[in-house]
Amino acid sequence: MTSGADGMLYLLKAEPTLLPEAPADTTVAQMEHRRVDEVHACLRCGERARNAYVADTKLGYRWLDLCHACAHWLRTTMTDRPH
Ligand SMILES: [Zn+2]
Repeated sequence: MTSGADGMLYLLKAEPTLLPEAPADTTVAQMEHRRVDEVHACLRCGERARNAYVADTKLGYRWLDLCHACAHWLRTTMTDRPH
């Protein structure tokens, strides 16, 4: 879940310094808890985030909160990009 962090941050225009710190050993249960039980704004559009990812940034691990639409956009955008 931590691959392509730089590309994700670039696509989202997200500053790692502004993202909340995530534990280095984030478990699936923690990700589920953040996604389901907590309310966070989508990084890209501000809607309620329904997906939580952990990005391995140069500053350490950071949470990425995204709504369904933006998570889908990110997945498809990253997949479509030539490597
Ligand atoms: Zn969104």
